[in-house]
Amino acid sequence: MIDDLMTTERLYYDDSYTLDFNATVLEQTTYKDRPALVLDRSYFYPEGGGQPADSGQLNGVNVLDAQTREADRAVLHILDKPLTDKQVEGQIDPVRRTDHMQHHSGQHVLSQALSQAAQAETVSVHMGADTMTIDVNRNGLSPDEWLAVEALANRIVLEDRPVRAWFPDPAELATLALRKLPDVAGKVRVVDMGGFDLTACGGTHVARTGEIGVIKVVRFERRGETTRLEFKCGGRALEDYRDKNQVINLLAAEMTVGYRDLHESVKRIQSENKALKSELKAARERLVDSETLVLLANAEILGDWRIVTQAFDGRDPGELRLLAQKLTAHPGVIALLGTAGDTAQIIFGRAEAVPVDMAQVLKVALASLKTDRGGGRPNFAQGGGVPATLDEVTAALRLAEQTVREQA
Ligand SMILES: [Zn+2]
Repeated sequence: MIDDLMTTERLYYDDSYTLDFNATVLEQTTYKDRPALVLDRSYFYPEGGGQPADSGQLNGVNVLDAQTREADRAVLHILDKPLTDKQVEGQIDPVRRTDHMQHHSGQHVLSQALSQAAQAETVSVHMGADTMTIDVNRNGLSPDEWLAVEALANRIVLEDRPVRAWFPDPAELATLALRKLPDVAGKVRVVDMGGFDLTACGGTHVARTGEIGVIKVVRFERRGETTRLEFKCGGRALEDYRDKNQVINLLAAEMTVGYRDLHESVKRIQSENKALKSELKAARERLVDSETLVLLANAEILGDWRIVTQAFDGRDPGELRLLAQKLTAHPGVIALLGTAGDTAQIIFGRAEAVPVDMAQVLKVALASLKTDRGGGRPNFAQGGGVPATLDEVTAALRLAEQTVREQA
């Protein structure tokens, strides 16, 4: 995995804790159109093995990224602006480095715990700025298995075991039972988590398992034959706990229950909400029923017909349609309804035997509102959708009523 011939001496292999160092610039180059430097020695970890690169500074210039150049395995320090100095002083961002050390070490421990407590072998690992995930070769784990995995992993943390990373010679390497075999030929670096897990890895790790702080699986999802689990260690786990605690405390105070009763409270509110919705629907219907009777009592009588002309302000079109249906269920009724607002609506209906085409009458009302959006059948028509005041809607209904009267 590690070549003997390396342009840059990788100091982080033997020491993950030194964050300030001096180096000589060997080459000024570019990486994807950004200035980049090759140094003779560096503590910067270049992206690789599922671990993102360190960030930091060289002589005060920001190092945005570090990458390995394939051709000679030189470490490219990618900068946000050019730097021409021959000697540089490097500083690595301590927060990001510590976070990576905790999570990379935590991943080794968790992968071994998954193997021992759930016979789930790690198939891939992804480490991002916010989330760290492990994919295992099992389709789901039982709640008991999750508990056992987490308990075992955290026992290794609490035992504060020493962590050792070294380059064994081929004879020694042959005797080591590695969890994960190296994926690249060459010199192999081995990481030993205090006798619990032995694996090939080139990343930065803590010196003792206690520094991982805590290992918490926060989420898992089945993905076909594998399961992806997201976990958090140390500082990130504390931050996650703080965030979730704040949300839970807010909710519990809002609902005036203990946090363990939150789920029950939410279920109760959901079912109350459902019951209220159907009660509201029934109450609305009763209201429309009595409104129908009042409107019918005040309807204009024209021979066998009764004309109801009524404009409203900001009324729900669905409720207006219901009102039109109820009205026109009575023989001889013509309902000319409308509602004003940003999207005014005109709703016309008539009882079965009335020989008036409501779609034609609608056109008159829509023309008055200066739109032609709408249509329907001889017994029911609807249109509008443009802004109109109550006066404008009333005027449109009056014109429609006049058209109806002419057909009597
Ligand atoms: Zn590692």
